[in-house]
Amino acid sequence: MAQAEAAQHLADVPRNYSPEQRQRLAEAVRRGEFVRCPVCAAAMAWRPVAPPRALAYVRRRVWLICPECKRSAAVDLSAGGRS
Ligand SMILES: [Zn+2]
Repeated sequence: MAQAEAAQHLADVPRNYSPEQRQRLAEAVRRGEFVRCPVCAAAMAWRPVAPPRALAYVRRRVWLICPECKRSAAVDLSAGGRS
């Protein structure tokens, strides 16, 4: 399984996503898709991050967390329009 392969890499890789992986995560979130961890393919949890009051006009942001490998990433929803 791909998951087993990915798991072997976990020890070597920093607990972070590459910019490319974040980009893919952001696109999936913007499309309202079910988001999977690009590293271990686990279903990711996500929660909205409230912008600081002074930056309320700023694009929305969500925090994605993988329950398996514990990586996380803040993703900007620059597409906007959804509420
Ligand atoms: Zn993961």
